[in-house]
Amino acid sequence: MAKIVTIKDIYPICTAPEGIPLVIVKVVTSEPGLYGIGCATYTQRWITVANAVTNYMKPLLVGKDVSRIEDIWQMAMVSPYWRNGPILNNAISGVDEALWDIKGKMCGVPVYDLLGGKCREAARVYRHADGKSLEEVGDKVQAFMEDGVQVIRVQYGGYGGNSGNRNSYIDDLKPDGACEGAYYDPLGYENSVTKLFEYMRNRFGMGVELCHDVHEHLDPINAIHLAKELDQYRLFFYEDSLAPEQVDWFRMMRGQTTVPIAMGELFNNPNEYNKLIAERLIDFIRCHVSQIGGITPAKKLASFCEAFGVKTAWHGPGDTSPVGHAADIHLDVSSWNFGIQEWAGFRGATFDVFSGCPELRKGYVYPNENPGLGIDIDEEEAKKYPCSEKLPFWTNCRRPDGTLNRP
Ligand code: MG
Repeated sequence: MAKIVTIKDIYPICTAPEGIPLVIVKVVTSEPGLYGIGCATYTQRWITVANAVTNYMKPLLVGKDVSRIEDIWQMAMVSPYWRNGPILNNAISGVDEALWDIKGKMCGVPVYDLLGGKCREAARVYRHADGKSLEEVGDKVQAFMEDGVQVIRVQYGGYGGNSGNRNSYIDDLKPDGACEGAYYDPLGYENSVTKLFEYMRNRFGMGVELCHDVHEHLDPINAIHLAKELDQYRLFFYEDSLAPEQVDWFRMMRGQTTVPIAMGELFNNPNEYNKLIAERLIDFIRCHVSQIGGITPAKKLASFCEAFGVKTAWHGPGDTSPVGHAADIHLDVSSWNFGIQEWAGFRGATFDVFSGCPELRKGYVYPNENPGLGIDIDEEEAKKYPCSEKLPFWTNCRRPDGTLNRP
Protein backbone atom coordinates (compact mmCIF):
# COMPACT_ATOMS: atom_id res chain seq x y z
CA MET A 1 0.00 0.00 0.00
CA ALA A 2 1.29 3.47 -0.91
CA LYS A 3 2.53 5.60 1.95
CA ILE A 4 -0.07 8.11 3.08
CA VAL A 5 1.08 11.74 3.24
CA THR A 6 -0.88 13.79 5.76
CA ILE A 7 -1.40 17.45 6.62
CA LYS A 8 0.98 18.44 9.43
CA ASP A 9 0.32 22.17 9.71
CA ILE A 10 -1.78 24.93 8.12
CA TYR A 11 -1.11 28.63 8.62
CA PRO A 12 -1.80 31.99 6.95
CA ILE A 13 0.91 34.34 5.65
CA CYS A 14 -0.37 37.93 5.41
CA THR A 15 1.64 40.33 3.29
CA ALA A 16 1.14 43.49 1.23
CA PRO A 17 4.06 43.96 -1.18
CA GLU A 18 2.02 46.39 -3.30
CA GLY A 19 0.16 47.87 -0.32
CA ILE A 20 -2.86 45.58 -0.88
CA PRO A 21 -3.37 42.99 1.89
CA LEU A 22 -2.91 39.43 0.59
CA VAL A 23 -3.54 36.18 2.49
CA ILE A 24 -1.56 33.11 1.45
CA VAL A 25 -2.19 29.75 3.12
CA LYS A 26 0.64 27.29 3.56
CA VAL A 27 -0.16 23.59 4.03
CA VAL A 28 2.81 21.66 5.41
CA THR A 29 2.80 17.87 5.01
CA SER A 30 4.23 14.90 6.92
CA GLU A 31 6.73 14.46 4.07
CA PRO A 32 9.85 16.55 4.83
CA GLY A 33 10.13 19.53 2.46
CA LEU A 34 6.74 18.92 0.82
CA TYR A 35 4.25 21.79 1.17
CA GLY A 36 1.74 23.72 -0.90
CA ILE A 37 0.46 27.29 -0.99
CA GLY A 38 -2.94 28.71 -1.89
CA CYS A 39 -4.70 32.07 -2.14
CA ALA A 40 -7.20 33.09 0.56
CA THR A 41 -7.11 36.79 -0.22
CA TYR A 42 -10.13 38.81 0.84
CA THR A 43 -8.37 42.16 1.05
CA GLN A 44 -11.17 44.05 2.80
CA ARG A 45 -11.47 41.49 5.65
CA TRP A 46 -8.08 39.79 5.64
CA ILE A 47 -7.72 39.53 9.44
CA THR A 48 -10.93 37.51 9.74
CA VAL A 49 -9.91 35.10 6.96
CA ALA A 50 -6.48 34.59 8.57
CA ASN A 51 -8.23 33.81 11.89
CA ALA A 52 -10.51 31.29 10.17
CA VAL A 53 -7.46 29.54 8.71
CA THR A 54 -5.68 29.39 12.07
CA ASN A 55 -8.63 28.61 14.32
CA TYR A 56 -10.81 26.42 12.11
CA MET A 57 -9.05 25.04 9.03
CA LYS A 58 -5.99 23.87 10.94
CA PRO A 59 -7.78 21.96 13.75
CA LEU A 60 -10.25 20.50 11.26
CA LEU A 61 -7.71 19.22 8.75
CA VAL A 62 -4.42 18.37 10.46
CA GLY A 63 -3.79 14.63 10.08
CA LYS A 64 -5.93 14.27 6.93
CA ASP A 65 -4.62 12.51 3.80
CA VAL A 66 -3.42 15.25 1.39
CA SER A 67 -4.48 13.22 -1.66
CA ARG A 68 -8.20 13.54 -0.83
CA ILE A 69 -8.79 17.04 -2.15
CA GLU A 70 -12.48 16.55 -2.96
CA ASP A 71 -13.35 15.04 0.42
CA ILE A 72 -11.40 17.73 2.27
CA TRP A 73 -13.14 20.47 0.28
CA GLN A 74 -16.59 19.04 1.06
CA MET A 75 -15.72 18.58 4.73
CA ALA A 76 -14.39 22.13 5.08
CA MET A 77 -17.54 23.44 3.39
CA VAL A 78 -20.08 21.66 5.63
CA SER A 79 -18.16 21.62 8.92
CA PRO A 80 -19.45 25.06 10.01
CA TYR A 81 -23.01 24.00 8.96
CA TRP A 82 -23.74 27.51 7.59
CA ARG A 83 -21.75 27.89 4.40
CA ASN A 84 -21.05 29.73 1.14
CA GLY A 85 -19.92 33.01 2.70
CA PRO A 86 -16.85 34.96 1.56
CA ILE A 87 -14.78 34.55 4.75
CA LEU A 88 -14.91 30.77 5.00
CA ASN A 89 -14.84 30.26 1.22
CA ASN A 90 -11.51 32.11 1.11
CA ALA A 91 -10.12 30.06 4.00
CA ILE A 92 -11.19 26.89 2.16
CA SER A 93 -9.66 28.17 -1.08
CA GLY A 94 -6.31 28.71 0.61
CA VAL A 95 -6.21 25.06 1.64
CA ASP A 96 -7.74 23.75 -1.60
CA GLU A 97 -5.24 25.50 -3.88
CA ALA A 98 -2.38 24.39 -1.60
CA LEU A 99 -3.57 20.77 -1.89
CA TRP A 100 -3.61 21.01 -5.72
CA ASP A 101 -0.10 22.48 -5.47
CA ILE A 102 0.99 19.52 -3.30
CA LYS A 103 -0.63 16.96 -5.60
CA GLY A 104 1.17 18.47 -8.60
CA LYS A 105 4.48 18.33 -6.73
CA MET A 106 3.84 14.70 -5.71
CA CYS A 107 3.05 13.76 -9.32
CA GLY A 108 5.84 15.93 -10.77
CA VAL A 109 3.45 17.80 -13.10
CA PRO A 110 1.94 21.31 -13.30
CA VAL A 111 -1.61 21.67 -11.96
CA TYR A 112 -2.97 22.26 -15.49
CA ASP A 113 -1.95 18.68 -16.32
CA LEU A 114 -3.97 17.41 -13.36
CA LEU A 115 -6.95 19.39 -14.69
CA GLY A 116 -6.88 17.68 -18.08
CA GLY A 117 -3.86 19.25 -19.73
CA LYS A 118 -3.38 22.33 -21.87
CA CYS A 119 -5.83 23.21 -24.59
CA ARG A 120 -3.88 26.45 -25.27
CA GLU A 121 -0.35 27.58 -24.51
CA ALA A 122 -1.29 30.71 -22.60
CA ALA A 123 -4.25 32.77 -21.41
CA ARG A 124 -5.24 35.83 -23.44
CA VAL A 125 -5.70 38.75 -21.06
CA TYR A 126 -7.50 42.05 -20.85
CA ARG A 127 -5.76 45.05 -19.31
CA HIS A 128 -7.18 48.18 -17.66
CA ALA A 129 -7.05 51.64 -19.30
CA ASP A 130 -8.39 54.46 -17.15
CA GLY A 131 -8.01 58.21 -17.39
CA LYS A 132 -9.39 61.64 -16.55
CA SER A 133 -9.75 62.63 -20.21
CA LEU A 134 -10.75 60.76 -23.35
CA GLU A 135 -7.27 61.37 -24.77
CA GLU A 136 -5.61 59.94 -21.67
CA VAL A 137 -7.69 56.74 -21.85
CA GLY A 138 -7.04 56.55 -25.59
CA ASP A 139 -3.26 56.95 -25.12
CA LYS A 140 -3.26 54.10 -22.60
CA VAL A 141 -5.22 51.93 -25.02
CA GLN A 142 -2.70 52.77 -27.74
CA ALA A 143 0.21 51.81 -25.45
CA PHE A 144 -1.41 48.47 -24.59
CA MET A 145 -2.09 47.79 -28.28
CA GLU A 146 1.57 48.46 -29.05
CA ASP A 147 2.45 45.88 -26.37
CA GLY A 148 0.30 43.31 -28.16
CA VAL A 149 -2.71 43.42 -25.82
CA GLN A 150 -5.84 42.52 -27.80
CA VAL A 151 -8.59 43.22 -25.27
CA ILE A 152 -8.70 46.38 -23.12
CA ARG A 153 -11.12 47.53 -20.44
CA VAL A 154 -11.80 51.25 -20.73
CA GLN A 155 -12.96 53.40 -17.80
CA TYR A 156 -13.38 57.16 -18.00
CA GLY A 157 -12.47 58.28 -14.46
CA GLY A 158 -12.68 55.01 -12.53
CA TYR A 159 -15.79 53.20 -11.33
CA GLY A 160 -18.84 55.39 -11.66
CA GLY A 161 -16.72 57.75 -13.77
CA ASN A 162 -15.68 59.70 -10.75
CA SER A 163 -13.58 57.84 -8.21
CA GLY A 164 -11.98 60.06 -5.60
CA ASN A 165 -14.29 63.07 -6.11
CA ARG A 166 -12.53 64.08 -9.31
CA ASN A 167 -15.56 65.92 -10.66
CA SER A 168 -15.88 68.87 -8.35
CA TYR A 169 -19.40 69.66 -9.63
CA ILE A 170 -20.72 66.80 -7.47
CA ASP A 171 -20.02 68.95 -4.43
CA ASP A 172 -22.62 71.40 -5.76
CA LEU A 173 -25.22 68.62 -5.95
CA LYS A 174 -24.85 67.40 -2.36
CA PRO A 175 -27.26 68.39 0.42
CA ASP A 176 -25.87 70.30 3.42
CA GLY A 177 -24.17 67.98 5.87
CA ALA A 178 -23.70 65.13 3.37
CA CYS A 179 -21.65 62.21 4.72
CA GLU A 180 -18.09 61.60 3.71
CA GLY A 181 -17.81 59.12 0.86
CA ALA A 182 -16.61 58.21 -2.62
CA TYR A 183 -19.22 60.24 -4.50
CA TYR A 184 -20.23 59.81 -8.12
CA ASP A 185 -23.02 61.01 -10.40
CA PRO A 186 -24.94 58.15 -12.10
CA LEU A 187 -26.33 60.29 -14.95
CA GLY A 188 -23.01 61.99 -15.67
CA TYR A 189 -21.33 58.60 -15.56
CA GLU A 190 -23.77 56.98 -17.97
CA ASN A 191 -23.42 59.79 -20.52
CA SER A 192 -19.63 59.79 -20.26
CA VAL A 193 -19.38 56.07 -21.07
CA THR A 194 -21.25 56.53 -24.35
CA LYS A 195 -18.87 59.39 -25.24
CA LEU A 196 -15.91 57.21 -24.28
CA PHE A 197 -16.88 54.41 -26.67
CA GLU A 198 -17.69 56.83 -29.48
CA TYR A 199 -14.20 58.33 -29.04
CA MET A 200 -12.51 54.89 -28.94
CA ARG A 201 -14.19 53.64 -32.11
CA ASN A 202 -13.46 56.91 -33.93
CA ARG A 203 -9.80 56.72 -32.91
CA PHE A 204 -9.14 52.98 -33.25
CA GLY A 205 -11.93 51.66 -35.46
CA MET A 206 -12.77 48.01 -34.81
CA GLY A 207 -9.08 47.05 -34.52
CA VAL A 208 -9.20 46.47 -30.78
CA GLU A 209 -11.58 44.62 -28.48
CA LEU A 210 -12.97 46.81 -25.70
CA CYS A 211 -14.87 46.07 -22.52
CA HIS A 212 -16.29 48.15 -19.68
CA ASP A 213 -17.06 47.56 -16.00
CA VAL A 214 -20.20 49.24 -14.62
CA HIS A 215 -19.35 47.98 -11.12
CA GLU A 216 -23.01 48.08 -10.01
CA HIS A 217 -23.08 51.87 -10.29
CA LEU A 218 -26.38 52.23 -12.19
CA ASP A 219 -30.01 51.48 -11.45
CA PRO A 220 -31.04 48.33 -13.35
CA ILE A 221 -33.14 50.06 -16.00
CA ASN A 222 -30.33 52.57 -16.65
CA ALA A 223 -27.80 49.74 -16.95
CA ILE A 224 -30.09 48.29 -19.65
CA HIS A 225 -30.35 51.70 -21.34
CA LEU A 226 -26.56 52.02 -21.39
CA ALA A 227 -26.23 48.49 -22.78
CA LYS A 228 -28.52 49.52 -25.65
CA GLU A 229 -26.48 52.67 -26.27
CA LEU A 230 -23.23 50.68 -26.32
CA ASP A 231 -24.52 47.86 -28.55
CA GLN A 232 -23.38 49.73 -31.70
CA TYR A 233 -19.76 49.82 -30.45
CA ARG A 234 -19.49 46.02 -30.29
CA LEU A 235 -18.08 45.41 -26.83
CA PHE A 236 -16.05 42.33 -25.90
CA PHE A 237 -18.20 42.33 -22.78
CA TYR A 238 -20.21 44.54 -20.45
CA GLU A 239 -19.19 43.75 -16.90
CA ASP A 240 -21.07 43.69 -13.59
CA SER A 241 -23.79 45.98 -14.91
CA LEU A 242 -26.16 44.82 -12.17
CA ALA A 243 -25.72 44.16 -8.48
CA PRO A 244 -25.94 40.45 -7.53
CA GLU A 245 -29.26 41.23 -5.82
CA GLN A 246 -30.76 42.44 -9.14
CA VAL A 247 -29.74 39.73 -11.60
CA ASP A 248 -33.31 38.98 -12.68
CA TRP A 249 -33.06 42.16 -14.79
CA PHE A 250 -30.58 40.37 -17.08
CA ARG A 251 -33.52 38.75 -18.86
CA MET A 252 -34.74 42.19 -19.92
CA MET A 253 -31.21 43.26 -20.97
CA ARG A 254 -30.87 40.08 -23.01
CA GLY A 255 -34.20 40.71 -24.72
CA GLN A 256 -33.14 44.16 -25.90
CA THR A 257 -29.43 44.01 -26.75
CA THR A 258 -26.71 41.71 -28.04
CA VAL A 259 -24.06 43.16 -25.72
CA PRO A 260 -22.09 40.19 -24.30
CA ILE A 261 -22.77 40.08 -20.57
CA ALA A 262 -20.04 39.32 -18.02
CA MET A 263 -21.04 38.85 -14.41
CA GLY A 264 -19.98 37.45 -11.12
CA GLU A 265 -16.91 38.79 -9.31
CA LEU A 266 -19.07 39.22 -6.20
CA PHE A 267 -20.68 35.79 -6.31
CA ASN A 268 -19.97 33.34 -3.49
CA ASN A 269 -22.75 30.82 -3.83
CA PRO A 270 -23.75 28.46 -6.67
CA ASN A 271 -27.34 29.57 -6.17
CA GLU A 272 -26.27 33.02 -7.35
CA TYR A 273 -24.93 31.82 -10.70
CA ASN A 274 -26.41 28.44 -11.62
CA LYS A 275 -29.66 29.85 -12.97
CA LEU A 276 -27.97 32.67 -14.91
CA ILE A 277 -25.79 30.10 -16.66
CA ALA A 278 -28.44 27.44 -17.27
CA GLU A 279 -30.82 30.03 -18.73
CA ARG A 280 -28.02 31.52 -20.87
CA LEU A 281 -28.52 35.00 -19.44
CA ILE A 282 -24.78 35.72 -19.30
CA ASP A 283 -21.87 35.08 -21.68
CA PHE A 284 -18.92 35.16 -19.26
CA ILE A 285 -18.72 33.97 -15.65
CA ARG A 286 -16.41 36.27 -13.68
CA CYS A 287 -16.15 34.65 -10.25
CA HIS A 288 -13.19 35.40 -8.02
CA VAL A 289 -11.75 31.89 -7.65
CA SER A 290 -10.82 32.19 -3.96
CA GLN A 291 -14.25 33.67 -3.14
CA ILE A 292 -16.01 30.54 -4.40
CA GLY A 293 -13.64 28.18 -2.57
CA GLY A 294 -10.66 27.54 -4.87
CA ILE A 295 -9.71 25.37 -7.83
CA THR A 296 -12.05 22.47 -6.96
CA PRO A 297 -15.32 24.42 -7.36
CA ALA A 298 -13.90 26.62 -10.16
CA LYS A 299 -13.11 23.61 -12.37
CA LYS A 300 -16.63 22.28 -11.82
CA LEU A 301 -18.09 25.71 -12.58
CA ALA A 302 -16.08 25.95 -15.82
CA SER A 303 -17.39 22.54 -16.92
CA PHE A 304 -20.96 23.51 -16.00
CA CYS A 305 -20.60 26.71 -18.08
CA GLU A 306 -19.26 24.75 -21.05
CA ALA A 307 -22.54 22.86 -21.35
CA PHE A 308 -24.42 26.14 -21.82
CA GLY A 309 -22.02 28.01 -24.09
CA VAL A 310 -20.82 30.33 -21.31
CA LYS A 311 -17.11 31.19 -21.08
CA THR A 312 -14.84 31.85 -18.11
CA ALA A 313 -13.28 35.22 -17.29
CA TRP A 314 -11.98 34.79 -13.74
CA HIS A 315 -11.68 37.99 -11.72
CA GLY A 316 -8.03 39.10 -11.70
CA PRO A 317 -7.50 42.47 -9.99
CA GLY A 318 -4.64 43.65 -7.76
CA ASP A 319 -6.37 42.10 -4.77
CA THR A 320 -5.87 38.61 -6.11
CA SER A 321 -2.49 37.33 -4.89
CA PRO A 322 0.09 36.06 -7.40
CA VAL A 323 -0.73 32.59 -6.04
CA GLY A 324 -4.39 33.16 -6.90
CA HIS A 325 -3.37 34.43 -10.33
CA ALA A 326 -1.30 31.27 -10.85
CA ALA A 327 -4.38 29.18 -9.99
CA ASP A 328 -6.43 31.23 -12.51
CA ILE A 329 -3.89 30.60 -15.28
CA HIS A 330 -3.81 26.83 -14.65
CA LEU A 331 -7.60 26.83 -14.98
CA ASP A 332 -7.46 29.09 -18.07
CA VAL A 333 -5.09 26.95 -20.09
CA SER A 334 -6.92 23.71 -19.25
CA SER A 335 -10.56 24.83 -19.65
CA TRP A 336 -11.85 24.50 -23.20
CA ASN A 337 -14.43 27.26 -22.68
CA PHE A 338 -11.91 29.80 -21.38
CA GLY A 339 -12.87 33.30 -22.53
CA ILE A 340 -10.39 35.86 -21.20
CA GLN A 341 -8.28 36.56 -18.10
CA GLU A 342 -8.34 39.91 -16.33
CA TRP A 343 -4.75 40.95 -15.69
CA ALA A 344 -3.79 43.78 -13.34
CA GLY A 345 -0.07 42.89 -13.55
CA PHE A 346 2.58 42.61 -10.84
CA ARG A 347 4.83 45.40 -9.63
CA GLY A 348 7.95 46.02 -7.55
CA ALA A 349 8.26 44.11 -4.30
CA THR A 350 5.84 41.39 -5.46
CA PHE A 351 8.75 39.84 -7.33
CA ASP A 352 10.85 39.81 -4.11
CA VAL A 353 8.10 38.05 -2.12
CA PHE A 354 6.89 35.62 -4.80
CA SER A 355 8.99 33.55 -7.19
CA GLY A 356 7.62 31.80 -10.27
CA CYS A 357 4.87 34.38 -10.95
CA PRO A 358 2.97 33.78 -14.22
CA GLU A 359 4.51 35.86 -17.01
CA LEU A 360 2.84 38.32 -19.38
CA ARG A 361 4.16 38.41 -22.93
CA LYS A 362 2.38 40.23 -25.77
CA GLY A 363 -1.12 40.03 -24.37
CA TYR A 364 -0.84 36.47 -23.09
CA VAL A 365 -0.04 35.16 -19.62
CA TYR A 366 1.94 31.94 -19.40
CA PRO A 367 2.01 29.49 -16.50
CA ASN A 368 5.45 28.17 -15.68
CA GLU A 369 6.19 24.48 -16.16
CA ASN A 370 7.19 23.71 -12.57
CA PRO A 371 5.28 20.97 -10.69
CA GLY A 372 2.18 22.12 -8.81
CA LEU A 373 1.13 25.77 -9.12
CA GLY A 374 4.76 26.62 -9.90
CA ILE A 375 4.84 29.60 -7.56
CA ASP A 376 6.43 30.04 -4.12
CA ILE A 377 6.56 32.61 -1.33
CA ASP A 378 9.57 33.85 0.64
CA GLU A 379 8.15 34.11 4.16
CA GLU A 380 10.98 36.30 5.51
CA GLU A 381 10.58 38.71 2.59
CA ALA A 382 6.78 38.71 3.09
CA LYS A 383 7.23 39.98 6.67
CA LYS A 384 8.81 43.18 5.35
CA TYR A 385 5.42 44.21 3.92
CA PRO A 386 2.87 44.07 6.77
CA CYS A 387 -0.83 44.48 5.90
CA SER A 388 -2.63 47.67 6.90
CA GLU A 389 -5.62 47.37 9.24
CA LYS A 390 -7.19 50.50 7.74
CA LEU A 391 -10.74 50.03 6.47
CA PRO A 392 -11.33 50.58 2.73
CA PHE A 393 -12.74 53.98 1.70
CA TRP A 394 -13.74 53.30 -1.91
CA THR A 395 -16.51 50.91 -0.79
CA ASN A 396 -18.18 53.89 0.93
CA CYS A 397 -19.68 54.80 -2.44
CA ARG A 398 -22.41 57.48 -2.53
CA ARG A 399 -24.78 59.20 -4.96
CA PRO A 400 -25.00 63.00 -5.08
CA ASP A 401 -27.84 63.15 -2.52
CA GLY A 402 -25.67 61.20 -0.07
CA THR A 403 -27.34 57.79 -0.51
CA LEU A 404 -24.98 54.86 -0.09
CA ASN A 405 -24.62 52.89 -3.35
CA ARG A 406 -23.21 49.46 -4.09
CA PRO A 407 -19.44 50.02 -4.57
MG1 MG B 1 -14.87 44.04 -12.27
